Amino acid sequence: MVVFLYCYRCTRMKHILIANWKMNGLKGDIHNFCTQPFPVDISENIQNKTLILCPPSIYLGLACAHAPENLLIYAQDCSAYEKGAYTGEISVAMLADMGVKGVLLGHSERRIYHGETDARVGKKLAAALTCGLTPVVCIGETREDYESKQTQVFVEAQIAATLDSCDYVSTLHNIVWAYEPRWAIGTGKTPTQEEITTVIQTIRETLEGKTGNPTPHIIYGGSVTAQNAHAISTVPSVHGALIGGASLDKDCLAEIIRQWGSF
Ligand code: PEP
Repeated sequence: MVVFLYCYRCTRMKHILIANWKMNGLKGDIHNFCTQPFPVDISENIQNKTLILCPPSIYLGLACAHAPENLLIYAQDCSAYEKGAYTGEISVAMLADMGVKGVLLGHSERRIYHGETDARVGKKLAAALTCGLTPVVCIGETREDYESKQTQVFVEAQIAATLDSCDYVSTLHNIVWAYEPRWAIGTGKTPTQEEITTVIQTIRETLEGKTGNPTPHIIYGGSVTAQNAHAISTVPSVHGALIGGASLDKDCLAEIIRQWGSF
């Protein structure tokens, strides 16, 4: 108990674990996830972690209506536009109106399959901030850049291009940045702890240099599983994880939460 209190009161940032369901699950799956007892206690005061679910957009309303207090619902994407003739898009005001608390931006699957650019991500970032949504901005290098040792250059350029298109640099401390090497997403491959540490240091320094705000909240994503979660969670600069495939199975996600440790 003494150890628990010490950890709970220590100055480390609260960690966030985000379950990104991508285009998976149907109504019943979302309902079960939100209403069935979770195999591990997810109360923030016990775990000092925040659990977030990003369901497919069509089920955001359902998830918001049924999620317990200690499960936040974020969207997987949003429109850069406020409103108007943008068929198929969902505005940040609509998300906030439904009870959504945050939004993933620039996920590599949006970049690869939907031509999302850093400039567009910057505009979505500005939109999210105006509505009080917590943006989770995904950045990370391609396999080619990783293999040619251009990771640092790549993420610095990505941050610069994103921020150039966002007018709200002074409020950027409200953002979560997700370091997600593209080559690690859905592949079962992960960078080493040293590599994660180095890239996160670069991200932190770049952001602090650009915004003047200290200690951004930075998480890691890319093939996080129950087997590697503990090791990744011990990297001191990592403040949580973005979990795709492994989050679809509730028992597996619960094991990741257990393995992630208590901070
Ligand atoms: C993701 O969706 O951002 C992700 C990291 O996926 P996976 O865990 O499946 O690699």
